[in-house]
Amino acid sequence: MSEKKDLLYTKKSVFERCDKKERQKMTDYAEGYRYWLDKVKTEREATREIDKMLRAAGFVDYDGKKKLAAGDRVIVNNRGKNLFAVVIGSSDVAENGVRICASHIDSPRLDMKPMPLFETDGIGYFKTHYYGGIRKYQWATIPLALHGVVAKKDGTTVEVSIGEDIVDPRFCISDLLPHLGREQGAKPLDKAFTGEGLNVIVCTSPELDDEGKPEKEDAVKIKVMRYLNEKYGIDEEDFLSAELCAVPAGTTVEIGLDRWLLGGYGHDDRVCAYSSLTALLENADSPKNTIIVTFADKEETGSDGPTGMQGILLSDIIDKIARDAGADPAVVRAHSSCLSADVTAAFDPNYPDVFEKRNASLIHCGVGLAKYTGSGGKYGTNDATAEFVAHVRKIFDEAGVVWQMAELGKVDAGGGGTVAKYISKMNIDTIDLGVPVMSMHAPFEMISKADLYEAHKAFSAFCAY
Ligand code: MN
Ligand code: MN
Repeated sequence: MSEKKDLLYTKKSVFERCDKKERQKMTDYAEGYRYWLDKVKTEREATREIDKMLRAAGFVDYDGKKKLAAGDRVIVNNRGKNLFAVVIGSSDVAENGVRICASHIDSPRLDMKPMPLFETDGIGYFKTHYYGGIRKYQWATIPLALHGVVAKKDGTTVEVSIGEDIVDPRFCISDLLPHLGREQGAKPLDKAFTGEGLNVIVCTSPELDDEGKPEKEDAVKIKVMRYLNEKYGIDEEDFLSAELCAVPAGTTVEIGLDRWLLGGYGHDDRVCAYSSLTALLENADSPKNTIIVTFADKEETGSDGPTGMQGILLSDIIDKIARDAGADPAVVRAHSSCLSADVTAAFDPNYPDVFEKRNASLIHCGVGLAKYTGSGGKYGTNDATAEFVAHVRKIFDEAGVVWQMAELGKVDAGGGGTVAKYISKMNIDTIDLGVPVMSMHAPFEMISKADLYEAHKAFSAFCAY
């Protein structure tokens, strides 16, 4: 007969469950993540840095031709915006399948329109089209940086980054002063700021002519293009083939006197990208399992396009692994499993009304496992089977992972989706696992160092199991 204390389940935080030594590991691990996050503010920058870390660990580019064999470590870098890291294990893939961890490396931001530059009343602006789900008011009156690429007709691509170096200028979207904000203040939150109103200030002085007088026409625009031309060799027409975006300027910082939270831009979902990457690296030496860790683009806008998880590249890679092992790809898929590595919403005591505390993830209580996501009556979700949930429970508990179930908010309060449904469509058991985030999708999001480390542990245990 079970002891009375074993009959009931109680969620405990890492401070109740982990000793000093373990907590030290958490804070040490967070240091690596914190400085890495500052370098990866777009999917392209993340792809580049992930590629670098993989190469340092002996991974090589894969062109799809060579036959894959046990011990191979390869990178499929998809257009510099999405990446697949593959380790071929020693076990039979027909029997054992592959282990997949799938995070995304795009985050909400303000994309520049193809013709972004205009001037009015002596101020030069960039027009933006926001990317992903943002609360527009959060993006005004904060320092912004400009990141991205400009692809030129001659085939070269110029990388742009302005606003991160301490000596760099920053950019900004203005807002009304409260004294004149009466009418705006009476509007609903989602109406008070418009998409077309998110214009970024780029320059506020005119280009001067040879006599030192302001140019008669387009004086500010000319000044902007003069600067960009001298620094990057581009002209206004080159904006037509560019991917430039405004992201929050600045670095990741510790929050609270105890320093247990990390605040910064883009935890969703680079926190899962980083923790699944380090988990892969931990398991890359003579692994039993074949592991695919993927870092997707376009999750925030529906996973469409060739770099999103609705693309067929993951399926192609599994096919190749299967064929090279002499196995039927459908059989390999059927025996594979996937952690859809994406963040979840942490319970926020400041907004308790939208959460159902019993089922919400709590900060410092470990990595969050979401059986389902979706909205409005579990609409639009992969809903992992009870059997698969039991399977990962066993893996995590055996590895001593601190984890918790995580439902994103109250029923009918809203909802959201992940890439889980696209991967599970391939007949692969999939479940969402990720770090609880406070202020998700804000320019400045917060996570727990403890939950971050437990995510790494969970991905690592899953890869190894
Ligand atoms: Mn996400
Ligand atoms: Mn998101």
